[in-house]
Amino acid sequence: VSQEDALYVVSLMRTIPDFPKQGILFRDFLPALADPRGLKVLAEALVKTLPVAASDFDLVAGLEARGFLLGPQLAMSLGKGFLALRKKGKLPPPTLSQEYSLEYGNATIEMEKGSIVPGQKVLIVDDLIATGGSAKAAADLIKRAGGQVAGFSFIMELEGLAGRRELQDYPVTTLVSMP
Ligand code: AMP
Repeated sequence: VSQEDALYVVSLMRTIPDFPKQGILFRDFLPALADPRGLKVLAEALVKTLPVAASDFDLVAGLEARGFLLGPQLAMSLGKGFLALRKKGKLPPPTLSQEYSLEYGNATIEMEKGSIVPGQKVLIVDDLIATGGSAKAAADLIKRAGGQVAGFSFIMELEGLAGRRELQDYPVTTLVSMP
């Protein structure tokens, strides 16, 4: 990714204070997707900055909802399939679910049982890593389904929250680092 392209994409991202609640600095990359050049740069950057060789995974898994925006595009460019990890209650049974803790309370992600062939290697994609809690839950879910976690790709990383510590056993790449 050229520095010019990187700066261009970052210039399209928005930062919104106190959303969705007081004290959260919300990072929004949707304006970069709405821009033709921004979308192209982001999609190509994910392909170019894989945390492992494309031959080292079989499937791309995306976290609802913003992991669904670029995950299928990444999978398609690499000739892989795409697996949706959804919020609780959206998928028909049988499902496998994984609970994890949020700053306040708990959340659950789910996948359809049987969507991973045991031993398949999975790259997990999301827009942003903050505490790393949801990414870690995704990894735990994939392992319980019999898969192996090959690594993680994120568009943005929030530095202050050290989410990478949660994922220290895995290769991780992020396109943009923000305070
Ligand atoms: P975490 O589990 O703490 O790493 O949070 C990551 C998930 O929450 C991602 O799916 C993000 O889309 C969302 N998220 C957390 N913090 C922010 C933030 N400051 N701005 C935008 N999205 C966020």
